[in-house]
Amino acid sequence: MPLDHPLNEFTHRKSAAIAEACTACGACVEICPVIPHAGLSVADAPKVLEGVLSTLKSGAPLEGPAAEWAHQCDGCGKCIPACPEGINPRTMLMLANTKSAEHQSDTPILFRKMARAIRLMAAMQLAPADYRQLLQPPTTRNVPVIFYVGCNAVRTPHLLFNAMYVLDALGVDYDVMGGPAACCGIIHTKWQGDVAIGGKVTDATVQNFGGRNPEKVLSWCPSCQLHLGETLSDYQETSFDFDHVTKYLVDREDELDQLFTTPVPLRVLLHAHEGMADLGENVARILKRVPGLEVAGIAWESGYTCGGSGADRSPGLKAVKRAETIEQAKAPDVDVLVSLYHGCHAQLVSLSENENIKVVNFTDLLVRALGRTPREDVLEAGRMLKDWHAMAANVQSTLAANGTEVDTDWLADLMPELFTNAEFKGGLKAFD
Ligand code: SF4
Ligand code: SF4
Repeated sequence: MPLDHPLNEFTHRKSAAIAEACTACGACVEICPVIPHAGLSVADAPKVLEGVLSTLKSGAPLEGPAAEWAHQCDGCGKCIPACPEGINPRTMLMLANTKSAEHQSDTPILFRKMARAIRLMAAMQLAPADYRQLLQPPTTRNVPVIFYVGCNAVRTPHLLFNAMYVLDALGVDYDVMGGPAACCGIIHTKWQGDVAIGGKVTDATVQNFGGRNPEKVLSWCPSCQLHLGETLSDYQETSFDFDHVTKYLVDREDELDQLFTTPVPLRVLLHAHEGMADLGENVARILKRVPGLEVAGIAWESGYTCGGSGADRSPGLKAVKRAETIEQAKAPDVDVLVSLYHGCHAQLVSLSENENIKVVNFTDLLVRALGRTPREDVLEAGRMLKDWHAMAANVQSTLAANGTEVDTDWLADLMPELFTNAEFKGGLKAFD
């Protein structure tokens, strides 16, 4: 395959270096929690590693036990400290999955479907000025901070506006970048196996950051954080710091302490993921600054996020961990289960209906502590009732205000797939 983009060269070089350094010792397989859920055992380690290393060296598609392992890798990161050679096995599997997807992707036009779903969902929920702020940022102003929200978070915009209320309260001079036009490139690269196009998408987004001369780019989305902050961390040099917005809030926690003047008398259980434990710990630390609020504990789940990129890749393991979370959240001394990322929030809110567990996002609690009213989830009531037709009719005026005209029946049929990110499982064929 011609190496027609620097990212092709980068992934090729990195794959070869990992394949060269790996001794196939099996430590990463031994510690990996998805192994039994993928129908494998530690005794399969030699076969599994032989297949992964062969894909990294030759670019051949993953097959057999190696494919089972790599496809179920949920990004939990437990293997990273286990490797005696200093290899990051999470990155190793990310690269192997990418090389395999170059031959055959289960979701070949994922980006197109996802982009259409995101724009439609944003247009259903946002007033035009808010829509423009998230999806059409100004391009000429130099700005010290970019709040980079990625693509899919735009589906739950109330969380992002809550986070912006906190940045506003801190007096941060920032612009937002988000939506499909600001994709980090992970969809093309990892899911579609189009590394050259993924590289162009990554380059365009990173150049857009750099063109604004920011000191910091604060990301929201864990997938962007993983792709740009870990897998491609040494792909190209940048002139700005790239880190997660929760780290920025921790760095300014003394100022938040002064700003959090309204008590939020709740005992909360925080939902977080082992694969980005530092972000979960950041949020727990910020929540402890909220007066009246007590963090009862953290319900750690596997993966680095919920959803098709993370915990959903290993459904058996996810079911075990989710059952533990539900049990913890039902404890009599827990008032609320707190979500962290957009993808987790979108899944966990169903527990309100199915398990009678109240779920709020951490940004909601921070806004309340600031004495402000959190942004409303304008689709929540309709989603709970699953009255798709009424919801499709209700959002027509908001869609029209954003210049989008769609048939109500067509939209009502589409709603269940829009709310479950069905395109990540090959669905949402209406956008083929
Ligand atoms: S990141 Fe987690 S699931 Fe993936 S290989 Fe490592 S330990 Fe296994
Ligand atoms: S732990 Fe490291 S050296 Fe051992 S098999 Fe895994 S990646 Fe290779």
